[in-house]
Amino acid sequence: MVRRAGRRARGPVPARGSVTAKRGTSNRNARGSSTDRRRRRAWLLVRFGDGRKAPCYRCGRLLTERTITVDRVTPGAEGGTYRRDNIRPACGRCNSETGGQLGAARRTLALTC
Ligand SMILES: [Zn+2]
Repeated sequence: MVRRAGRRARGPVPARGSVTAKRGTSNRNARGSSTDRRRRRAWLLVRFGDGRKAPCYRCGRLLTERTITVDRVTPGAEGGTYRRDNIRPACGRCNSETGGQLGAARRTLALTC
């Protein structure tokens, strides 16, 4: 019996940007482990603040390690990653208010307080 190496058939691979692509919340691999996420928040506090506090990009509220959330400039639903050039600090309220919006609607919402 000959076993052939290669990709196992698991159904068609969805095309990038197709309607079957997941929107919004990404899987755990994309967000990383809890250590990854803690390091990412610590980096945001240093990059956008003084290391202990950083302002929300949208409402300006000062955030600490406990209240900061990571906002992706290009959202996950549009293929945005957690690379350092695509993240900024946001409070939980601003992050969730802009979370379900895409494209121009999201950018407009992000500019209004
Ligand atoms: Zn905010």
